Amino acid sequence: MVSEHAYEALMQFLYQAPIGLVQTTLCGDIEMINPMSANLLMPLSSDGGLDNLFALLEGVAPQLRGMAAAAALPSGEICQSIRVTLPAACGALPGTAPQVLSIGLLKLDAERLMAVLTDVTREVHREQEGLQRKLNDAALIDTLTQLPNRAAMRECIQKLLARKPSSAARGFAVLLLNGDRFKRLNDTLGPAVGDALIGMMADRLRTALRQRDRLHARPRDPRYEPSSDAVDGIDAAGRGSASAQAPEAPPDLSMLASVGGDEFVVVLDHLRHPDRALVVAQRLQAVLTQPFLVAQQQVHCSVSIGVVLQAHATGGADTLLQDAGIAVAEAKLHGGGRCVVFEPEMQQRAERRAGIEAELRVALQSGQLFVVYQPVVGLMPGGLLDCSASVEALVRWRHPVRGEVPPVEFIGIAEDCGLIGALGDFVLDTACRQFVKWQLTLGDAAPRLLAVNVSRAQLAQPGWVDAVLHIVTAVGIAPAQLQLEVTESLAGQDELVQARLTELKALGIKIALDDFGTGYSSLASLHLLPVDTVKIDRSFVSRSAISHHHRVLIDATVRVAHSLGMNTVAEGIETVAQAAVVRELGCDKAQGYLYSRPMEASALATWLNATSAVRAPHEKVQPQSH
Ligand code: C2E
Ligand code: MG
Ligand code: MG
Repeated sequence: MVSEHAYEALMQFLYQAPIGLVQTTLCGDIEMINPMSANLLMPLSSDGGLDNLFALLEGVAPQLRGMAAAAALPSGEICQSIRVTLPAACGALPGTAPQVLSIGLLKLDAERLMAVLTDVTREVHREQEGLQRKLNDAALIDTLTQLPNRAAMRECIQKLLARKPSSAARGFAVLLLNGDRFKRLNDTLGPAVGDALIGMMADRLRTALRQRDRLHARPRDPRYEPSSDAVDGIDAAGRGSASAQAPEAPPDLSMLASVGGDEFVVVLDHLRHPDRALVVAQRLQAVLTQPFLVAQQQVHCSVSIGVVLQAHATGGADTLLQDAGIAVAEAKLHGGGRCVVFEPEMQQRAERRAGIEAELRVALQSGQLFVVYQPVVGLMPGGLLDCSASVEALVRWRHPVRGEVPPVEFIGIAEDCGLIGALGDFVLDTACRQFVKWQLTLGDAAPRLLAVNVSRAQLAQPGWVDAVLHIVTAVGIAPAQLQLEVTESLAGQDELVQARLTELKALGIKIALDDFGTGYSSLASLHLLPVDTVKIDRSFVSRSAISHHHRVLIDATVRVAHSLGMNTVAEGIETVAQAAVVRELGCDKAQGYLYSRPMEASALATWLNATSAVRAPHEKVQPQSH
């Protein structure tokens, strides 16, 4: 027997319980109901009455009536928790989430049912939010590397740009990393190896960015001193680590993102000094330059990095990324494997490049390109010059507005945009035809060798060697009268280039290594290259008369070249003193303004006629043109 006091307490409990309890008959007629139930069910009542549970729930849970009728057991659970969403008309405030009830039903005995009602609106809302977050996260993750993707990174940069400047947040920098010559790796090794390589690059970047202590390697410089800031503290998921921040600082938005192919973006937040971005960039570069072991082969890659510092982040996220791209392009323009900080002037340069590209296409078709020729003189015994030894063909662009545009401004662009093939063919064809004309008109005074520059993109073109042979044969010059010049930096590094050069050499065509001394090949590896002539770069020659060191380098180059049966050309001779030095050091030929600037074909003919009999004790050739 329940005491009166205990009964009172039970009633209090039922009245105050935060869950709704309703006792009904088997047909749902309500016998007892606590206030919470009344609150929850009232919105479902059309007339304000709370008579029958099944009638009230008919619109949202019509199945309940049948379930109760079908429950054959004398007592026990009929249903655990059916979730029902109340119609908007039931009173949810406009703009708020609709109310959700959870309904449980159990049979108390042969005559009575008990319904348990709970408001689970908040819980459902939280679940939905969680699910949405998961979906969003999936849309923000790169599947190959499991790093945040481009969309995540754009969002992050937008947040950084929108953040109010504060000393606690310090500065940020965005680094865009792009693999050098990655497309070639992908083409030669196959996309599967390419993907594996990208995965490995991502891992190395992750690890390098997590080891932020190694950043503080230069103790005396305050910029590199240990600090409590997060700097490049990026966790395994590619996000900034919150742990290292000062409490008043806004969240660390540092991020490592994979933004497509071999491109990564590193966002460095809470930078104490902009220079730290460069320290990180150099470290990342060093980490990625170490060889990778993919599919049992060692693969070497390098990356170009474009850095945008907060001070230059003027537009939105897209502009910032474009600027980083411009800095990367600038890095690649200078041979790749380097880091370039974006400066606003680069934007103008990039626009100029884009303009040049469009105009170059027109120039090729409308005859604005032409070829000039610079004599390369033989340094004969007794201080004599052989003025007909050779000429080098150099392309020029007569631009209708800008005047004469030098090749350094457009050869690189022609290579990038695929115009170098047509441009190179034009120069080769024009120069070969001109060479034959001189032979016909100048007799003994005609140059005996024609040098033409070629770039990597030409050598890489399938069938290019045959095309050269075709031109040479069609025009009627002997292969041995043609010398193709490739820059040293190119020939030294590249197996494909070396293979092509060997093919060309087998045809009898001469090969020259241009700008020797500026690239990577050392004298010790000269014997590996299929080369007839080494052209010693102007930067050595120009200092030869004043620097013992440079004289020694030229001397060594000449000796090694001669020992390998190669001959040498000193480039960029401008003074009599330089000419005397290179002659003394045994260079075979010389080229430079001292003898003649590059000139058009007719002017060269005049020069050759006038100098064919020159004896030049002072190296000065008359007449000096231009
Ligand atoms: P390069 O093949 O080393 O050509 C020599 C460059 O040095 C030429 O510059 C020439 O005008 C310049 N030069 C010669 N003597 C002197 C001198 O005494 N002092 C100074 N300061 N410069 C001197 P240019 O014509 O501007 O060509 C620059 C480079 O552009 C060439 O260097 C070559 O690498 C490339 N190039 C030129 N024409 C072509 C072409 O038709 N195809 C390709 N692929 N590259 C070309
Ligand atoms: Mg050259
Ligand atoms: Mg050169």
